[in-house]
Amino acid sequence: MNNIVGIEPSIRVFCDFDGTITRKDSGDEFFRTFSKFEPAHTDLMNGKYSVKEYYEKVSSGLSMTQDALLDFCESCETDAYFRQFLDFIQSQHWELCIVSDGFDLYIDEILKRVNAETIPVYRNLLQFQSDTGSWKPLFPNADERCKCFCASCKTKIVLGNTHPDDLIIYIGDGLSDTCPVHVADMIFAKGSLSSYCNQHGIMHHNWNSFFDILHILKKRKPIMRDIARKERKKAFIAE
Ligand SMILES: [Zn+2]
Repeated sequence: MNNIVGIEPSIRVFCDFDGTITRKDSGDEFFRTFSKFEPAHTDLMNGKYSVKEYYEKVSSGLSMTQDALLDFCESCETDAYFRQFLDFIQSQHWELCIVSDGFDLYIDEILKRVNAETIPVYRNLLQFQSDTGSWKPLFPNADERCKCFCASCKTKIVLGNTHPDDLIIYIGDGLSDTCPVHVADMIFAKGSLSSYCNQHGIMHHNWNSFFDILHILKKRKPIMRDIARKERKKAFIAE
């Protein structure tokens, strides 16, 4: 699964999108605006559906015009310090990759609006079916072996883009980020991800805005977390 040939060990930053680069969960807002969000979302949170089943359900009810989609993307507020964060990552010659369990339809447009469309981004896809006139979700990074709360496993993406000796920085806020933090060396967590890290004894930095992340990265050199490195080695051997 990993395409490590020719990749030099370095510092790699993996960053969630919904509720991290955008201030609110733009995925929930997207389905709330253009589909029938409830009771499917409550059923998901109560464990009635898997994330994949939930996405299939709410995607089948999607209906929108191109203008309405652009208006929606315009209304999604992004973190005010994200652009400064990008400049800093570039100045350090670190690699950045966005990992999302959301969808291309709104993510790509929002990234374009903050001039970040050249950053590699892994996300699910929404494909329009002209025969039925409905939308179908596709999950190119799904991993059936993983039982994490997401349709696409972010650990699979992280490991597929790193060398075991790379140093991994992970930034996130939610349930779909709980899987990859186990293989990350330096973790920035807010919301339910922060609670998860506390419960599982995973060292992390709390953050609210990218201003906080920048502040920490500028004064503290990232160091390898031994247990994360062991987890990575284990995963690479299992491949
Ligand atoms: Zn996973």
